[in-house]
Amino acid sequence: MNAKISEIFKSIQGEGVYQGESQVFIRFYGCNLRCSFCDTKLDFYTEKTVEETFKQICSFENFASVSLTGGEPLLNWKFIKLLAPRLSEIGKPVHLETNGILYNNLKEVINCIDVVAMDFKFPSSTGLCELWKEHREFLRIASQKEVFIKTVIGKNTTNEDVFESIRILKELKADIPFILQPENPYESFLQPKLKYFENIYKDKNINVKILPQLHKVLGVK
Ligand code: SF4
Repeated sequence: MNAKISEIFKSIQGEGVYQGESQVFIRFYGCNLRCSFCDTKLDFYTEKTVEETFKQICSFENFASVSLTGGEPLLNWKFIKLLAPRLSEIGKPVHLETNGILYNNLKEVINCIDVVAMDFKFPSSTGLCELWKEHREFLRIASQKEVFIKTVIGKNTTNEDVFESIRILKELKADIPFILQPENPYESFLQPKLKYFENIYKDKNINVKILPQLHKVLGVK
């Protein structure tokens, strides 16, 4: 079993509730979406077997967990189904960083994933069509494991999308961390908007936090 992999590297986790943790990242090539703010450069890849990937991960030292990222890693669910149990055997928790759309693929691998970091793609932020139905179904499956949600807040993000995300979170009746991520950590004009949205989530008793991408702030990969 092969997968197209853009890079394997060790760094700190820059996003979400595991921000700052030392991880090995497997960046899978390819994505099923085209978000307007996407800054992931996926212009090259190497075909790797599960065994080659596993060996390369093991060549790194002093890391806490492994992050499957992309692109969209769930496009490679068959590969993940073989790789993830190997990582569990060596005591490395497996984090899945996903756009939160491909719920049928998630069903296939959820048993071998430890942490799901999923996106809510707000149409007003991404320029994409509504994906609420997919996010709702995805979250239902992801919540079998530890899960948190990230959403990018940009200048066009609307109240309507914020309220729709709250409706989905409330349906699930679970205390799921919800991260507001500024599209650009250096755009100060976004700060009032982030605070305003944070207060809306807090009023509805959502476990919300504003977290800029730490790797961008620190200038690391
Ligand atoms: S889901 Fe992620 S990788 Fe895919 S286009 Fe959107 S930001 Fe880029």
